[in-house]
Amino acid sequence: MSILSFAGLPSRLTYYSSLLLGLCLLLASQLSWANTIQTVPLRLTSDSITKIDLQDWIYVHKSQNISQLTKLLEQPDSTWKKFEDNQPQRIGVQNYWVTFSIYNPDDYLSRIIALDNPLLDSVVIYHFINGELVNAQQMGDSLPFKQRPLLSNIFLYPVELQPGDTHKFYIKVDSLGSISLPLVLWSSNDLTQLTETKNLYIGMQIGLLIAISLFSFFIALASTSYSYSYYSGYVLGLTILTASIYGVAFRYLWPQWPIMQQYIFTIIIPLTLGFSLMFTEKALQLKYHNLKMLRICRVMAAISFSLAVITPFINYSSAIYILVFVVLTMSTILVTFSLIQAFVGQRNATLYALGRLALLIGCILTGLLYVGIIKLDIAPQIPTMIGLTFEVFTMAAVLALRYSDERKAKFNIQQQALEQAQRIREVREEALHAEAENSEKLEQMVQERTLELEITLRELHEVNQKLTEQNTIDSLTGVKNRSAFDRRLIAEGRISRRQQTPMALLMIDIDKFKNINDQYGHLAGDYSIKMIAHTLSEFLKRPTDLVSRFGGEEFAIILPSTDDEGALLVAEQIRQAISEQDITHNGQHIPLTVSIGVSADIIDSDEHPMLLLEQADKALYQAKRSGRNKVCYYALKADQI
Ligand code: GH3
Ligand code: MG
Ligand code: MG
Repeated sequence: MSILSFAGLPSRLTYYSSLLLGLCLLLASQLSWANTIQTVPLRLTSDSITKIDLQDWIYVHKSQNISQLTKLLEQPDSTWKKFEDNQPQRIGVQNYWVTFSIYNPDDYLSRIIALDNPLLDSVVIYHFINGELVNAQQMGDSLPFKQRPLLSNIFLYPVELQPGDTHKFYIKVDSLGSISLPLVLWSSNDLTQLTETKNLYIGMQIGLLIAISLFSFFIALASTSYSYSYYSGYVLGLTILTASIYGVAFRYLWPQWPIMQQYIFTIIIPLTLGFSLMFTEKALQLKYHNLKMLRICRVMAAISFSLAVITPFINYSSAIYILVFVVLTMSTILVTFSLIQAFVGQRNATLYALGRLALLIGCILTGLLYVGIIKLDIAPQIPTMIGLTFEVFTMAAVLALRYSDERKAKFNIQQQALEQAQRIREVREEALHAEAENSEKLEQMVQERTLELEITLRELHEVNQKLTEQNTIDSLTGVKNRSAFDRRLIAEGRISRRQQTPMALLMIDIDKFKNINDQYGHLAGDYSIKMIAHTLSEFLKRPTDLVSRFGGEEFAIILPSTDDEGALLVAEQIRQAISEQDITHNGQHIPLTVSIGVSADIIDSDEHPMLLLEQADKALYQAKRSGRNKVCYYALKADQI
């Protein structure tokens, strides 16, 4: 905040700003002290106006070394000079004497003398009626509040004026602060009215400040925002300052401790300034916009907070001078910073600078009013107070804007994060999709390969089957070969054994085949073998019957589920069919007969099939022996033969 906001108030501080602005006037006023004027009393009648500014009747004593009234009274008239309202006010004065007199010619009148500077340390009023001292009243903010004759924020002294009386007042002022002496003579009615209005105004102003500081404090708590905390600290400081300046704080907060009045300003001003600096740092967002300014701001804040600790321990007047200097300097720097940032184009800075400038203008106006360079019909502190109110509102707006900017920025960041997340999700989905596609392709490829492999395996199986089949076929005749016969013999043997069905074997041998070969040649022999095999195959229609070439010109036939009778019947039919068969090779008829040995039985052991084969062979041998072109069934008797 700007120092000038304090300086413009009706206080010792108000004075400081005006001090700087009115330095030039100081010399002029020094010169006017040389005049000597006879004291003139105020002539008061019932027709007189009810609010009389006493400034025109006040005389100031030139010397400030007199502390006793008796000594003062010994001084000649020439040591008094007329009070001039354009005279700059001063700070830290001891033994400052003023005097004025009131003459009441004919009415009984009741009036109140008001001294509207609640910050004076000590005010002693010596009241003379017709040259006789009737009362000596001590007041001031170095005394407990209760000791005042009339309980008010400002100093009030009631006077009863009898007709024909002359009342003379000597007022001694000692104050470390400003000795501004706005003395006014009021009728009690008007004073009450004015006090009410004034108190309403003060109440509103303090209430507004308290409301803003509480509001910012709660916002700071709710949002954990530093800028709002600093702002609430700043406004709270301003609230206490304003309340102190109006005397409200003394009256209501610490009426028993006048000592507080000595320290409150030296502590609260630097604290408020410190908060103001920290708030400015946040409001102008110096962290992002200007690091040099940020550093300067922080150093100044550190200085301010240190001053709050140091100044209470040093001489009050010096402390006030230091504070005025520091506040003025830092405020100027802050205004400069905000203007620079505003020119750079920072929206918040523009608003901030506006608020500061309003306060500055208010303070300057107040200063000018105080030193009398301009004259307006308002209390001098009004422009500062208007500026201050405007500034406080502007700063609230700056904060609100900044808060909204931050929210927007946060929202944007969130939005970006969401978009990023969305993008990542999309990319991941794409990757998953690609992976799924690839695995589908892979699966398809595997399936294709598996199918190919299966086809190859099936083909291989078929080839193998063909090969195996070919291995079981006799190449010359196309019927099963010997090894196929052997396997089938074992298999059918097991079936017979399990099902307890008879199994028959036929052993067939071509008769006198050597002669055929010799007579017709081997090719004719081969042809004959082929033709007989064909006949045998044609003859046996049951799918389970098996014709095989057993070797050379011998054939063996397995007849499953066939008993001896059936087998003999089949054998006989075969023998007959072949003997009647007409086999012709190269135009030559080849006469052929076969001998057949038959055996049949229900298989009862693993060796039984081989035995059955031997028996068939023996039966064949018998058929040969009994003259060929015969069918013989194996019988034990034959075996014995
Ligand atoms: P039998 O059986 O009636 O006692 O007189 P056989 O002349 O048939 O005598 P054997 O069975 O001992 O002779 C078989 C002959 O058959 C011997 C061989 O010359 C002839 N032979 C064997 N296998 C083949 C063949 O595959 N082709 C031809 N052309 N002749 C064969
Ligand atoms: Mg033979
Ligand atoms: Mg033979």
